[in-house]
Order: sequence, then structure tokens, then C-alpha cells
Amino acid sequence: MKKTDLKDFTFTQLTDYIVSLGLPAFRAKQIFSWLYRPEIHNFAQMTDLSKDLRAKIDEQCSISSLQLAAKEVSKDGTVKYGFELEDGLIIESVLIPEETRNTLCVSSQVGCAMGCRFCLTGTMGLKRNLRAAEIVNQAMATMADMDTDKQGRLTNLVFMGMGEPLANFENLVNALNILMDQRGLDFSSRKITVSTCGLVPRLKDLGEQVGVNLAISLHSANDTTRSQLMPVNDTYSVEQLLTACRNDFPLANRRRIMFEYTLFEGINDSLADAKELARKLHGIRCKINLLSYNQCDPLPYRSPARKQIEAFQKVLQDAGYSAFIRTSRGADISAACGQLAKKEKI
Ligand code: SF4
Repeated sequence: MKKTDLKDFTFTQLTDYIVSLGLPAFRAKQIFSWLYRPEIHNFAQMTDLSKDLRAKIDEQCSISSLQLAAKEVSKDGTVKYGFELEDGLIIESVLIPEETRNTLCVSSQVGCAMGCRFCLTGTMGLKRNLRAAEIVNQAMATMADMDTDKQGRLTNLVFMGMGEPLANFENLVNALNILMDQRGLDFSSRKITVSTCGLVPRLKDLGEQVGVNLAISLHSANDTTRSQLMPVNDTYSVEQLLTACRNDFPLANRRRIMFEYTLFEGINDSLADAKELARKLHGIRCKINLLSYNQCDPLPYRSPARKQIEAFQKVLQDAGYSAFIRTSRGADISAACGQLAKKEKI
């Protein structure tokens, strides 16, 4: 019989499960507070539970962790981790150190079904969803690997790794609840960003259920261009997506939606594109991140010249938007946006 991984449960779910085993609810509190300590790998270490109880739980339950299968460090300090899952599949997470924070780019699926044309993960297709535990364990395994004296602590999480997080909604929300639980990993909702290619019906649910930051992979405000880049646009148009951002996503005070816009030479980088973007984002409290495309074989896209990106930014700034040009991190180890793909074990 396959054991139940207790790290898949939020605190409430764990309480229900423990009660279903005929145990008192307070045991869930004790167990949950052990599960997310880095040094805990088995029930024998849970010293405030009796020996008999530990043995009983051990018969039916397990505590999962991820195996580090590969690690590459970029010359800019970015670290790409390859983690092996129980079934042998590999997922990637990317640690991006900056002066004031350390951000982990987390994967939510193995592969992705969304098929964005500029993304290597999209070429893999979807292998499977990650369980909540497999999402949370990316943060735990990274924290365990970090040298906090030299690197500091992990401070921020962005769901921009492999997969479309909102296509794995239930596991995503459970993982977020564990990550934000004070008895879990205690991340503030302000330090977590979920990025979506635009699964419109889920935006409201995400905002209402977990209140994290929202990022939208937009890449064009024009339906024809966006559909060429992102097949999801055939299902949810630019207008439907931006209307949902405007009306459905409950945005807390002083927060803004982040729009990610990768510039591809000759495709979405003209000043007319910038003007259309400025016009269509009107009325949305937002900031815009402009990214220069990381060329990756075998995809046919090219990055525009820096001058063109700056001209694009100026149009947005002149229209009153906060628009930033983001430098790609970790491109030399294929850790930048759109470069995560299936890798073999080392
Ligand atoms: S960009 Fe994101 S949503 Fe699109 S294929 Fe890649 S992983 Fe999936």
C-alpha cells in the first residue's frame, strides 16, 4: 500500500486526516509543526509523540523530500537546481540572488500543456502536475542547500518555473497555504508571486483564496500577435484577460499586477505595439517588466537591440506606467525564462 505523504496536506486537511485515523486533532498540530523543519526526515524524530504513535503513523504515512539531481551555478550567481521526483522525472527550480532578496523560481508541473512558442518547457508537453508536497519541497530543498552565512535566506517565491500554475490549481493553492502557514514555512503573501499565461476563470479564485501577487505573461496586447506566440490566447483573448485583471482579481491596497512582456525582434517590439499596450492596460493598477528574449536553440526568435527596448519603455513611461527593463539572469546555464526544459540526471 502506498503511504500517504503528509506534506501534501494543509493544516486543516492534516487535522481531518489525523482525526480520520482515530487520533485526537491536537496531534495534527504537533505533527504539522515538525514537518517543515529542515532536519526532520522521519517520524522517529518527532519526540513529543509516543513511540507507539510514531510507529502507527509510520505504517501509513511518509514525509517526502526531493533528491538533488543536478546543480549549476551561473557566473552571475544564479543557481539552477534539478530535482528528481519519486517517479524519476526531473523538475527545475532557479535561485536568483539579488542585493536585497533571494528569489526562487518554482515549478508547478512537469512540462506544460500551454505550448507557448518561445518556451522550451512548452515543447515538452505536459507530463504531469506536481503534488503540493513537490511544490513545497522545492523551497525546502533549496533552503537546505543554501549557505545562509554567505547567501542569506530565501526570501521570495515566484511561480514562473516549469508549468502553468493555474492549470494545477488545487495543488498550487494547497502548496501556497503550506508555504504561508506560520507553522509551515511562514512566507508572507507579499513575497509570493504566481505567474499565469492567462487562465482567465482562475484569476478570481486565486485572488480570493490565497491573496498572493499576480503576474501575467502578456507579451503582446494584440490578439493576432499574441495568438501567434501563445495558443492560450485563442481561448482567452487579450480583452477577456485584461477585463478579468481589471474587474475580477481582488487587488489589495498598494499592490499592483505585474505584466511580463518579453520582446521578440520584429514581432512585438515596435512602438505601435508599445502604444497599443499602453492603451489596453488603461485603468489597471500595474507595473510592466520588459524582458529581452533569451535566444535558445532550436526556437526561431531573436532579441531586439537594447535601443529598441529602451524606446519601447519610453512610450510606456510617457503614458504614465512604471515600466522596467529586466536583465536576464542565468542565461549561460539555461536558467532564464523560457529555457527550462527536460534534462537528464547527472
Ligand atoms: S511560458 Fe509558461 S505557460 Fe507558456 S509553455 Fe512555457 S511554462 Fe507553459
